[in-house]
Amino acid sequence: MNIFITFDYEIYFGENHGTVEKCIISPTAELIRISEKYDVRFCFFVDCGFILKLDEFRKIYPQLESDYKAITQQVEYLSKTGHDIQLHIHPHWEDSYYNGEKWVIDVKRYKLSDFNDSEIAAIVFRYKKVLTDITNKSVFVFRAGGWCLQPFSKLKNAFVENGINLDSSVFRNGFYSSEQYSYDFRNAPDKAIYKFENEPEVEIKNGFFTELPISSIKNSPLFFWKLFLLGRKNPYLHKPLGDGRAMAAPGYRKKLLTRVTNNPVSVDGYNASLLEKALCRLMKKKFEHMVVIGHPKALSRYSIQMLEQFVSENNRKHLFTTYSNSFSNKK
Ligand SMILES: [Zn+2]
Repeated sequence: MNIFITFDYEIYFGENHGTVEKCIISPTAELIRISEKYDVRFCFFVDCGFILKLDEFRKIYPQLESDYKAITQQVEYLSKTGHDIQLHIHPHWEDSYYNGEKWVIDVKRYKLSDFNDSEIAAIVFRYKKVLTDITNKSVFVFRAGGWCLQPFSKLKNAFVENGINLDSSVFRNGFYSSEQYSYDFRNAPDKAIYKFENEPEVEIKNGFFTELPISSIKNSPLFFWKLFLLGRKNPYLHKPLGDGRAMAAPGYRKKLLTRVTNNPVSVDGYNASLLEKALCRLMKKKFEHMVVIGHPKALSRYSIQMLEQFVSENNRKHLFTTYSNSFSNKK
């Protein structure tokens, strides 16, 4: 099995966005520690819109200089040491700004498809360039912010023009819809990898794009009751390391607590307890690839322990790999 441990590298987008140090830098340092101890590499989907905004506003507010440096230096270090740095787009940064004290985050246009064609083209070009300027390596993989990449036909041209041909945002049977954000992967194929053309959830043989979906797992409400209760009972172990709050997702928590739901296999918080179980299921299905999502901000002390255990137990049996190592852009 090829195992891709992937992280969306970003702060929070709610009222309280948290600090760069607690949401990104220090939890990522823990990931670096694990990767060096076991000689494995991870994939980081970097929220480039934030780097662009930091760069813009550090010229007005010098207090942002340290955040800008910390992020760009950590991304450069990750890339130099063999981790994968790929494209994560949260286009709401276009409408957001720093007011001298905090980021004022406007999520009215949360999805890339909320922008017009020429704006989309410019965003994909500029956001990708931020990364290639830092890493000098090929950027060809996309992870949509908040899983919002539909309708993909609106994004397609910009991706073709910028050499993005692999997406890793879909998780099978995932479905959510609210005013700001929505995704629907209920019809996605039950496959570890497939090609697509206009919609990432529809397989097209010989399509231009490759989908390497995030592995999906079914959770009962009991799992989430446990997750929330453990967070209260033992916050030291189970509280997220990031110091912000997620943006509102109306109805989402209620759905998790009352219904069986399909969720991405994740290393965030208590979800990390399911890594081994998810791997077994995928092996039974004879899948070749396992893709795990995580967020440095949403890691807990518990999930870091679980990740370390998962890596140490499987490092010899399976291949922990990156998109660049497994699918590097054929030109
Ligand atoms: Zn994100």
